[in-house]
Amino acid sequence: MPEGPSILFLKNKLQRFKGKTVSEASGYVEMDKSEIVNLKLIDIETYGKNLLFVFKDFFVSVHLGLFGSMLVNKRKKVNASFALHFGESEINFYVAKTKFYKGKPNDHFNFKTDVLKPEFDEDFVLNELQTNQGDKMIGDVLMDQNIFAGVGNIIRIESLYHAKIHPDSLVKSIPEKKLIFLLKMVVDYSEEFLNLLKTDKVKETAMIYGKMICPKDKSELFIEELGKIKRKTYVCLKCQKLYK
Ligand SMILES: [Zn+2]
Repeated sequence: MPEGPSILFLKNKLQRFKGKTVSEASGYVEMDKSEIVNLKLIDIETYGKNLLFVFKDFFVSVHLGLFGSMLVNKRKKVNASFALHFGESEINFYVAKTKFYKGKPNDHFNFKTDVLKPEFDEDFVLNELQTNQGDKMIGDVLMDQNIFAGVGNIIRIESLYHAKIHPDSLVKSIPEKKLIFLLKMVVDYSEEFLNLLKTDKVKETAMIYGKMICPKDKSELFIEELGKIKRKTYVCLKCQKLYK
């Protein structure tokens, strides 16, 4: 599944379409596409794992889910779920979900939670963790897109390893300093992830995601579907402390 940095990477590829007028909107998604036609695309934004196509009075979000993909000026043999045409150019999305929103992205999304945005607000997220998420496991909370928009499994696994925290640790039992450090690791690693996409080296350079052995102590990693979210999780039981 594409994580926040992959979506930002796609957004950066689409910048040349900003200011262009949509000549046709197509695809099999159940959304009224006629409203988009002949309108100028004002901006392309992201929120977490969503690409946002911003028009004057509304915007359309595109979510790639588990198997989605995007092609520019190329087509697959299967039908696109959503496509924007700009004269001779086109952006095609496959197996993507779209949603129509009235107003601006700011009216609907809290950018303070987007780990790749300058607006990411560490104090806001820390307060949310300590006030409302105390009884949950940190490995689960990290995947909550309302708190950590853009975090996917790779960012989750790598950040917890860098912060030396076991994913099953209860949020309320993790010392505040550790939580603050974890937030920093999430932001730092998300930025690194974005840079690694340029050379397609995310998986290759990961410390423990997709690996068998801890690079620090060479002990075998514990690999299982953990937490309520049941996502494949990699843990070094020597390096990562369980706070219960
Ligand atoms: Zn280790």
